[in-house]
Amino acid sequence: MPRNRGGMKSLLHGTLDLLYPRRCAVCAADTGSGGRYLCWDCLIGLPYIQDPYCSICGDPVEGNVDHDFVCSWCLESMPAFDLARSVVRYRGCVGGLLQAFKYRNATHLAYDLSALLEGGVRAHLADGGIDAIAYVPLHPRKARARTYNQARLLAEQLACRLNLPVERNALRRVRWTATQTRLHAAARRANVMGAFQTPIPDWVRGRRWLLVDDVMTTGATVDACARVLRQNGASRVVVATVARG
Ligand SMILES: [Zn+2]
Ligand SMILES: [Zn+2]
Repeated sequence: MPRNRGGMKSLLHGTLDLLYPRRCAVCAADTGSGGRYLCWDCLIGLPYIQDPYCSICGDPVEGNVDHDFVCSWCLESMPAFDLARSVVRYRGCVGGLLQAFKYRNATHLAYDLSALLEGGVRAHLADGGIDAIAYVPLHPRKARARTYNQARLLAEQLACRLNLPVERNALRRVRWTATQTRLHAAARRANVMGAFQTPIPDWVRGRRWLLVDDVMTTGATVDACARVLRQNGASRVVVATVARG
């Protein structure tokens, strides 16, 4: 019987798909051969980030720049992470998708969003090696109110795709911070200073970390997380986010 389990499972899934066809979260078409909740047309129409971009933080720039171009933010503040890359711009349908994923319980989108992340990691971040995955944690009070952490969902699905461990205790949010969305770059940095800790430094030391979040805007949050991992002996920290604000 166990030998037939895979066949039974795909038969069941096939039947469920016939009874309840999956609809694209953007255009409501049948997803068909596209992603699970994003149809092929919407997937290929996403505003993917392409060259040129900052060789450290991955922020896209206009015009012609050298391959090793470094943006003014990275030059001035030297981020704690080695590299950061995002897959798409926070534009068009991406904003609506990520808002639904973060605030409106659209947790099923983690499947397709983590597929996008997987492509970005394999293309840009995997070369230096990755030992474990961490994610930007929520403050416990916010986690209770929100019931799930979208960054954790992404990290867990990405971990399966890349066959890597996700460490749920690599980072902890120890200070309540104001919502970043209405703050400017300098205020965002001050806002997250000292907001994160690593509860068990031995887990962090000597490992190459992939830090995951849904959106990177000024980079203040992922930079603060990367700084803590570095201070606790991480040998490398790379950052992957679905979108760049
Ligand atoms: Zn669609
Ligand atoms: Zn940069």
